[in-house]
Amino acid sequence: MTTKNQERVLRGIGATPLSGVGTAVRYDPDADLSLPEPPDPKTVESGVEVDRFEAAREAVRERLQAERERAAERVGESEAEIFDAHLQFLADPQIEGLVEDATDEGLPAEHAVREAFGDAIDQLEAAGGLTSERADDLRELRTRLLRELLGAEATDLAALPEGAVVVAERLGPGDTARLDPDVVGGFATATGGRTSHAAIMARSLGVPAVVGVGEPLLDVADGATVVVDGDAGEVVVDPSAERADRARERGRDVDVRHEQVTTVDGRSIEVAANIGTPAEAAGAREQGADGVGLFRTEFFFLDREEPPTEDEQYEAFVEVLQPFDGDRVVVRTLDVGGDKPVPYLDVPAGENPFLGVRGVRLAPGERADLLETQLRALLRAAATDAGDGLAVMFPLVATVGELDDLLERVEAVAAALAEEGVPHEVPELGVMVETPASAFVAAELAERVDFLSVGTNDLTQYVMAADRGDERVAGLHDPRHPAVLRVLDRTVRAAHGADAWVGMCGEMAGDPDLTELLLGLGFDELSMSAVTVPAVKERIVETDTEAAEALAERALAAETRAAVEAILAGDGG
Ligand code: PEP
Ligand code: MG
Repeated sequence: MTTKNQERVLRGIGATPLSGVGTAVRYDPDADLSLPEPPDPKTVESGVEVDRFEAAREAVRERLQAERERAAERVGESEAEIFDAHLQFLADPQIEGLVEDATDEGLPAEHAVREAFGDAIDQLEAAGGLTSERADDLRELRTRLLRELLGAEATDLAALPEGAVVVAERLGPGDTARLDPDVVGGFATATGGRTSHAAIMARSLGVPAVVGVGEPLLDVADGATVVVDGDAGEVVVDPSAERADRARERGRDVDVRHEQVTTVDGRSIEVAANIGTPAEAAGAREQGADGVGLFRTEFFFLDREEPPTEDEQYEAFVEVLQPFDGDRVVVRTLDVGGDKPVPYLDVPAGENPFLGVRGVRLAPGERADLLETQLRALLRAAATDAGDGLAVMFPLVATVGELDDLLERVEAVAAALAEEGVPHEVPELGVMVETPASAFVAAELAERVDFLSVGTNDLTQYVMAADRGDERVAGLHDPRHPAVLRVLDRTVRAAHGADAWVGMCGEMAGDPDLTELLLGLGFDELSMSAVTVPAVKERIVETDTEAAEALAERALAAETRAAVEAILAGDGG
C-alpha cells in the first residue's frame, strides 16, 4: 500500500472543480516526429512532394471534419468551432504557397511542412496576446500533417483505457475535445491557464483537469497512479490509498445540483449557466443550473455571410427557454466587434480592438438595425408560454446615456410590435458591468433596470489594464486583486441600494474557491460554465453569510493579491 509520505504533490491551476484518479498516460504528440537531414535537393521531385502534401492535407481535413461533428454533438456548437479555425488554417493558401516554395527548393514534403509552419508559428507567437494562442492551433495542425506524411501513429486520445490520466506538456483544443469524459480520469498539463482553450474545453466536457503545473509534471512516469484534483489545483503522484479513495468518491459525489440552494442561514442564491448555443441549454439543466445567467448570442452571427433573421433568432430564444420552463434565462444582446470581428458587418477592429467599437457601441452607428431585429425577436419570445423567465442584458455599457438610449429602443420596438398587432412582452432588463465607468455609475444604471450582472473577464482587464488573452499579464488579469474586489463591492452595494438584484457571469463566478467571498460581497446570482454548477452549489450550502461577510471584509481591506490569497486560504488573519 502506498503510504502518505510517498505522495508527491504538484501544484497547478484547477481548470474544472472535479477530481479523478487513474494511471498516467504520457502524451507527447511530437515525440517521434524528428526528421532526418533532408536529402540532396536534386533527388527531390517537387511535383511528387506537392502531391504527397495534398494527400496528407485531404486526410487531415477529413479527420478534422469528423471530429468536429462529434465535438458538436458532445459539447455544443460553440466549442466545436475551435475545429473550424483548424480547417481554415489547413485551407490557407499562404501556408500552401510556403510549402510549395519549399518543395520547389528541393525539400521533401515533411521538411517543407515543418519549415512553412515553423515560420507562421514564430510570427503568431511574437504577436503576443490572443494572437499567440493561435500558435497552439498551428502546432496541432503541423503535428497532424507530419503524422500523416510519416505514417506515424499517435496515441489515440479518443481510445484511451478506462481511468487514463493524460499527462502532457500542452494539449491543444482538438486534443482535449477527443477525450471521453466517461472513460478518462482527467488530464494535467505543464502549460496553460484557466482561460486557455484546453481548460475551457475541459469544463465543457466535465473532465477533471489541472493546468499550468510547470516542468515538474514532465517527470511523472507513464503508468504512475495520479490524482487530478481540480478543486485544489493539485496533481498528486503516487497518492495514499485514502487520498485516491477520496478522489474516487468525489468523482461520483451525490450532490445538491438539482436543488435550489441556500446558505446555512437560509439565503437563497441562484446558480445559473453560461451558454453559447441553444443546443447547450438542456445539458446545462442536467448539470443542475437553475437557469441561464448568460446566453452569448454571438454564435448566430459567426460563420455566415449575413446576419440572422428575426424569425431565426426568435426560434432559437424559444428553444433555450423551453428546458428552463419559466426559470430565468438571461440573453445578452450582440457583443461582437472589436476582438470578435464579423467580416460582413464591416466594422473595422481599429488600432485597439478592446477599446473600440464593440458590444452596444455597434448599435448607435450604421448597424442600429442589428439591435432592433434582436430586440423584436426577444420581445416576441418573452410573450410565449416559456417566456416568463426571459431577461435581456446589454454588454459593455459605459454611460448612463447609452443605457437611456437602449431603453428607448426597447420602448420603440414594443410600440412598433403593438402597432403591428404582434404579441410581445417587455422582459426583465439588465446591464452588464464590464467597464470601470459602469461600476462608477452603477447606482444610476441600477435605478433604470431590474438587475446588474458583472462580467469579470472584461471588468478585470479594464480595471487592471491587462489583456485577458495575454499570458504575460495573466498575473494582473486576476479578479483577486484588491482593486477588482473593491469595484465588485461598490457595484453590489449600488445595485442593492437601487433595489436591483446583482449577479456575476464572468469566469470568476465558477471558481468554487471564491464562492464564499462572492456571497460575502453580496451577490444574489452566480452564472458559470455548466460543469462547475454542482461544485459551486456544494460550497453555497456550506456557507454561512456572517462568516462570508467577515471574509469579504478582510479581503477588501487587503493591500495585495497575495494578501487576498492568504485570506482565502484561511491563513490571512
Ligand atoms: C465577461 O466579460 O466577463 C463576460 C462574461 O463576457 P465575455 O466573456 O463574453 O466577454
Ligand atoms: Mg465581456
